[in-house]
Amino acid sequence: MKEHAVVIAGGGPTGLMLAAELALAGVDVAVVERRASQELLGSRAKGLHSRTIEVLDQRGIADRFVSRGQTYPVVHFQVALDISDLPTRHNYVLGLSQNHIERILAEWVAELPVQFYREREVAGFTQDDAGVIVELADGACLTAEYLVGCDGARSVVRKAAGIAFPGWDPSTSWLIAEAEMSEEPEWGFRHDAAGTHAIGHAEGGPRRVGMVLTEAQVGRDGEPTFDDVRAALVAAYGTDFGIHSPTWVSRFTDMTRQAAAYRDRRVLLAGDAAHVHAPIGGQGLNLGVQDAVNLGWKLAQVVRQTSPAMLLDTYHAERHAVAARAMRGTMAATALRRPDERTKALGEYVAQFLGMDEPRKRMAAELSGLDIHYDLGEGHPLLGRRMPDVDVATADGPLRVFTVLHKARPVLLNLGEPRRFDLAGWSDRVQLIDAEYAGRWDLPALGAVSPPNGVLIRPDGYVAWVGDRTEAGLAEALTTWFGPPRAV
Ligand SMILES: Cc1cc2nc3c(=O)[nH]c(=O)nc-3n(C[C@H](O)[C@H](O)[C@H](O)COP(=O)(O)OP(=O)(O)OC[C@H]3O[C@@H](n4cnc5c(N)ncnc54)[C@H](O)[C@@H]3O)c2cc1C
Repeated sequence: MKEHAVVIAGGGPTGLMLAAELALAGVDVAVVERRASQELLGSRAKGLHSRTIEVLDQRGIADRFVSRGQTYPVVHFQVALDISDLPTRHNYVLGLSQNHIERILAEWVAELPVQFYREREVAGFTQDDAGVIVELADGACLTAEYLVGCDGARSVVRKAAGIAFPGWDPSTSWLIAEAEMSEEPEWGFRHDAAGTHAIGHAEGGPRRVGMVLTEAQVGRDGEPTFDDVRAALVAAYGTDFGIHSPTWVSRFTDMTRQAAAYRDRRVLLAGDAAHVHAPIGGQGLNLGVQDAVNLGWKLAQVVRQTSPAMLLDTYHAERHAVAARAMRGTMAATALRRPDERTKALGEYVAQFLGMDEPRKRMAAELSGLDIHYDLGEGHPLLGRRMPDVDVATADGPLRVFTVLHKARPVLLNLGEPRRFDLAGWSDRVQLIDAEYAGRWDLPALGAVSPPNGVLIRPDGYVAWVGDRTEAGLAEALTTWFGPPRAV
């Protein structure tokens, strides 16, 4: 039985990001992935939102994605919302298909010490106080201190853990397909009594066509067929445009469910294994990558025994709330697409409100993930929010704050009197940087806030402590987030 500190079931976007985070923290991590390669048949996610790009920037790899995608200065919720004035370096949506996102992530992971078990499948597990035995479908076993289920919506790990997946059954069902057409189709969107349909160009050649068609019926069993696509085209357009040579047919719905618990002792869930919802608004992959970045450093500290296992409960507390809010957004967006006249009237009101500057800014910050606020108690508005990527001045020259997070280590940024902090018992874990910054502190959705005099930044880029003139609460925050002090 091969032993690892952490085994991750599933090497999709969430599993890849988590593997990288753990490897950066020096943890022995293995990924068990059913697929032979990262190649995905068909298309899923179409892009990355601002906060996800920031998170990648915190690790020094945002350019790898940005250089291969297309930037758009808008997010969509009923209408297009301008996000070009959001206070971030990445004030845009990055158009890049999931195939490319996964490939670039996998290239990065390949540079790190991560063991892959490809074309292998997790079939179940048993856990006790000492660890987890991960059972593979071919009869082999792996042992681990922790198992993380990043194995998608039908998660075997979630089911084997007996974690409930409450939520809402689908109200709408869509067919998605890629094929060729011998006739010129009606490009773009079409709205009818069944809902919205769309036909567009697909990657892979000038004749390739991609389509999303609202189905007349919800809850049909079995895998969809090419004949189902033909019939749906005829129902929506009166013709199938001579469709032929399909490469991919699939179905998705607005089923909305969330794991009741993201942790059961030594087993955790992240990404689609923990939450599923309609793809409207493009949140799923973004949530999964950010789950991984929230969990990675915490799990690494627990495995390395610098923090107690209860630190992992903050993963559930923080990320369950974020996904619950995103699900609320996708349910609202789906409801607003209903084709009846009353819903259309409601949609017009929503569009009217979002045409006003303040609601637009708030909604834009929510959809782009920039307004995430983990509940770390009362205090300065930065507490529990993302650290802005400001340019500070240090004795060694100018410094962009995100660059100090590249190795996924926490940072105490002293913006007051130099050398006023002594990290003492935490100096093995936390970097201390004396710096100056005279610019504005502008937070998405909130606007300008008072300048802090020191900030303790977690490896995921969220602020764990904000200082004014004193060090009040600093030792407590260091202990809570990075474990008790050690004799140095
Ligand atoms: C039509 C559509 C459009 C979408 N558009 C967007 C979008 O624009 N933006 C966005 O952010 N999201 C979008 N999503 C959602 C996005 O695709 C998912 O949220 C994302 O893929 C979740 O990543 P994951 O790693 O958590 O899960 P998955 O991508 O499902 O990866 C799970 C991995 O685990 C592997 N696996 C499964 N079971 C096992 C097992 N037992 N053993 C070993 N390996 C296993 C699978 O092979 C897979 O590689 C869309 C989804 C759909 C269907």
